[in-house]
Amino acid sequence: MRKSTSFVLVIMSLLAPISQAAALRVFACESEWAALAMALGGERVAVTSATSPNQDPHRLEARPGLIAAVRRADLLVCSGAGLEAGWLERLTASAKNPRVAAGRPGQFLASQAVALKEVPSSIDRSAGDVHAEGNPHFASDPRLLLTVASALTQRLTQLDPQGQANYAAHASAFSQAMHAAIERWQEQAKPLAGTPVIQYHKRYVYLIDWLGMQDVGTLEPKPGVPPGPGDLQAMLSLIHDHPRALLLHAPYDDQSPLRWLARQGKVRTVALPAAPDPQVDGLQRWLDTMVNALLQEAKAP
Ligand SMILES: [Zn+2]
Repeated sequence: MRKSTSFVLVIMSLLAPISQAAALRVFACESEWAALAMALGGERVAVTSATSPNQDPHRLEARPGLIAAVRRADLLVCSGAGLEAGWLERLTASAKNPRVAAGRPGQFLASQAVALKEVPSSIDRSAGDVHAEGNPHFASDPRLLLTVASALTQRLTQLDPQGQANYAAHASAFSQAMHAAIERWQEQAKPLAGTPVIQYHKRYVYLIDWLGMQDVGTLEPKPGVPPGPGDLQAMLSLIHDHPRALLLHAPYDDQSPLRWLARQGKVRTVALPAAPDPQVDGLQRWLDTMVNALLQEAKAP
């Protein structure tokens, strides 16, 4: 925890001084939204990211440094859909900043711009399910990033009308670059179509669907609930049935179930970065890394 805390502080100190003259102070809950806000805002925004790419955004402590950053913020950019259910409300309640309160223009929830997958008929967190409002990990589908970018550009312009030309220019550049990259990734990833995929946590559902891979199972019995001995046994037979399946996990997922599986036989694990580095081209680099990592393991003998 200490390591990740200091990492976030490093990020905050790196990002905060980007522009003394920034018109908007943006507090991003996850680094994908920090990267997007930087790409769309340019020099008119100073961006802070609450979580590093190496931190599980489902779990975060409402530390004093984060509360202070929310207190100063003009705009919060978060995933919503319950991803930050354990901490965002506590942060905003402690920060007492009416500009970014729920329902105000200063609180932007990216999930409200997209159609979520796996939305249950009713919200039930009783069994430890951390996806009680639907799957909130939609940033791994770049087509949805374009949708969120369009909504976020409108919000930035609403909050800072004088920056309209700046936001429009950045949005256009982002959209052009992303459209070109999507074509490139889809061409590169053609060999992945139909590849069976097992997820540790349902973090890659949107990526799997976008690239036409086949979702055959998940190690966690429910999102956020660690796999037990029975789940590991079931996973062994699933791997037996799908010997070419790629098992996708984030660097911060508990490694012990993966090590246990590896001791039982060959498992094609792929560690994917769960989020981008928060920088202007962070999203493109992140998607590049994921597509290449999948291709590399899928081609391996
Ligand atoms: Zn999740």
